[in-house]
Amino acid sequence: IETRNKYVKGKEIGSGTYAFVYKGHLRDEPNTLVAIKKMKVMENYKDGLTMDAVRETKYLQELSHPNIIKLYDVFTSKDTNMNLVLEFLPRGDLEQLIHDTGNVRYNSADTKAWMGMVARGIWFCHENFVLHRDLKPNNLLIAADGEVKLADFGLARSFSEPHLAMSTEVITRWYRPPELFYRARQYSGAVDIWSVGCIFAELILRNAFLPGQTDIDQVEVICQRIGTPTEENWPGVSKLASYVPVAKDKVRPVQPKSYYMQLFGTVGPFGVDLLMSMFTLDPRKRVTAKGILDHEYWAKDPRPTDKENLPKKG
Ligand code: ADP
Repeated sequence: IETRNKYVKGKEIGSGTYAFVYKGHLRDEPNTLVAIKKMKVMENYKDGLTMDAVRETKYLQELSHPNIIKLYDVFTSKDTNMNLVLEFLPRGDLEQLIHDTGNVRYNSADTKAWMGMVARGIWFCHENFVLHRDLKPNNLLIAADGEVKLADFGLARSFSEPHLAMSTEVITRWYRPPELFYRARQYSGAVDIWSVGCIFAELILRNAFLPGQTDIDQVEVICQRIGTPTEENWPGVSKLASYVPVAKDKVRPVQPKSYYMQLFGTVGPFGVDLLMSMFTLDPRKRVTAKGILDHEYWAKDPRPTDKENLPKKG
C-alpha cells in the first residue's frame, strides 16, 4: 500500500499474455518514467506460487547492469497477484524489428551490436547465478538510447512452467534447448545459451530458425536442422527421462559448417563458428556466456554499430 503510492499510474500502453502494462512515473520524480506491469490473475495457481514469484523477482532487483531491465519495485495488491515497477523502455522489442521486413533494414554490424548487448546481459546473469530460461526476441526490450535489455525474468518459472495445458498454447517453444524436451534433471546456463543461438539465427534470417509446431515436432526440427542427439555427440543423453531412442538409420548427423555458412554466411566465418558453438547439442559442451564474450567474432570486421545509430522500429 505504501509502495503503491510511490508511483503514479498513467495510461495503458500494452497487454500481453500475462500482464497489462501501464506507463507511469515516480511521484516525487515525474521525469523518471516507469512501466507498471500488472500481472493478470491466473485461475490455476496458488498463493504460494505468487509469493515465490515475488521473492524471486525481488532478488532480481539486486541485479544492476546496462543490459538487464531495471526492476524498481514489486508489490501485491488485492485485485491482482503482483505488480512490477520496471524501467520504461519505449522502443519496443527485437521481435518487432526482426519481423518488420517492410520498414526496418539492418546489417551484420547491427546484428553484432545487438548480439553483444544480449551476450553481456546473459553473462552478467550467469555470473550472478540467475538463469533467464525464457529468452526470445520478444523479451529483448530496447531503451531510448538503443540499449537492448533482457526482460521478463523469473516470471518464466513462476508463471508458465507448471501449467503445460496452457503453455503449449501460448508459450513459444522455439527457443528451448533439447535437454528441456528430454527433461534433464539438472540444467544450467546452457539453457539460455541455446536460446541466444536461436535469437542470433533469427536476427540473421529474419525468421525463426527452429519453429516447431508441437513439443514433439520441436525435437524433430532440432534433429533435422541441428542434428540428432546420440550417445556419441552427447554422452548420457539416452538415460534422460524423456529420451526417445532413434533407429540408427534415422539418425541425422550434426550439420557441418558448410550448412551453416549457406544459411548464416552474412555474419562471416567467425560469426558462424560462434553460432555453431551455441547450437552444441550436449549442454556440457555448449559455449558458455564467458566463452561467447571471449570469441574472436567480436574483434573481426565489421565493428558493432554504436547503439545510437541502430535502426529503430518503423
Ligand atoms: P508480451 O511480452 O506478451 O508482449 P508484456 O506483458 O511483456 O507482453 O508487454 C505488453 C506490452 O507492453 C509490450 O508489447 C510492450 O509494448 C509494453 N511494455 C512491456 N514492458 C515495457 C517496459 N518496460 N517499458 C515500456 N513498454 C513496455
